[in-house]
Amino acid sequence: MLRIEAGALEAYLTTMFRRLGCPEGEAQAVAGHLVGASLAGHDSHGVVRAPLYVRWAQEGRTVPGQTAKTIVDAPAFAVVDGGHGFGQTMAAFATRLGVEKAKQSGVAAVALRNSAHIGRVGAYAEEAAAEGIVSIHFVTASGSVLVAPFGGVERRFSTAPFCVGVPRPGQKPILLDFATSFVAEGKVLVASLGGKRLPEGALIGPDGALSTDPYQLYGETNTQPVREHSKGKGAIRAFGEHKGSGLALMCELIGGSLTGTGATQPAKHFANGMFALYVDPAQVAVEEVFDADVARYVAFVKSAKPAQGVDEVLIPGEPEEQARAERRANGLPISEDAWASIVACARGLGASESETPKPLR
Ligand code: NAD
Repeated sequence: MLRIEAGALEAYLTTMFRRLGCPEGEAQAVAGHLVGASLAGHDSHGVVRAPLYVRWAQEGRTVPGQTAKTIVDAPAFAVVDGGHGFGQTMAAFATRLGVEKAKQSGVAAVALRNSAHIGRVGAYAEEAAAEGIVSIHFVTASGSVLVAPFGGVERRFSTAPFCVGVPRPGQKPILLDFATSFVAEGKVLVASLGGKRLPEGALIGPDGALSTDPYQLYGETNTQPVREHSKGKGAIRAFGEHKGSGLALMCELIGGSLTGTGATQPAKHFANGMFALYVDPAQVAVEEVFDADVARYVAFVKSAKPAQGVDEVLIPGEPEEQARAERRANGLPISEDAWASIVACARGLGASESETPKPLR
């Protein structure tokens, strides 16, 4: 594993996305989002995705510089069409709209359809939480069919993430943010590029045998970073047995069918659809009990005696904070293959040798 300084990498990727055709603000948002996901410890949605984002734009699947269209604009409700523009532009727009409306109306819902990849969903819940707003996100990764439902061996769901953010005054939010698959697809990508191994039972073969081998998803791979999940014959499993599989189904129906993106299906233009609810706790918990009760309850949960081998009971969002502290200090870890593919991609868009950040180690 190499280590690359986060700020230097963000500047390098910003230039790369600008050269790809993104306006300055979008280039910064996409680069900042990818580095932010890596800093949070979510390498699967971090800088390893940069070459894929570039390829999708070059193939016309993602449209740089696209403008979000608000096609329904009610006091507490909006529908936004992303026109396959960069998800970091579209989901940020939808989130700002939802936050504004929730501040006006107490509660708001925003349906975002037809966005290119929005990346780490938690980033948008963090943006809402920074404004004091609770948010709940149902997402489909429509067009990507990777996950076997409970009781099945064939792919039917996308990795359909679910996310909830709860703000806390003067503190980082509580942030639950996960794929409803056993692992996010990006974790299979990272494992196939020499990164962290997959947990037992993450994948299932066509014969029903459980597996940790990325071959099940991508078939034979080489050192090139581009993986085609159409080439494997297996599937990722839904998390949490029948309960997790049920939540995945709901993310497809609410994030997909309800937003107008469409629940996932094969051979469809990839799009993230996100249905998000935004709630202003100051207008719901009018007796101002919310912040105090969240603090009381989090302390109660964390006071549970840790299980054997566990140092501390963590609440969602804390692992990401720990990763940020370590990675800001020591740089982002990245496999040599993944780093080589990012550099090759940037060089292909005109980056010079001297612009390329030098690994810290
Ligand atoms: P994960 O399995 O790492 O779970 C992360 C969640 O679990 C976080 O909320 C984290 O704080 C919490 N957590 C982890 N360890 C914990 C502990 N010990 N105690 C308490 N809480 C703990 O996440 P994942 O499923 O690999 O998803 C990774 C990312 O992928 C997410 O950011 C998700 O939004 C993103 N994703 C995006 C898409 C897309 O189409 N845009 C699709 C799938 C996933």
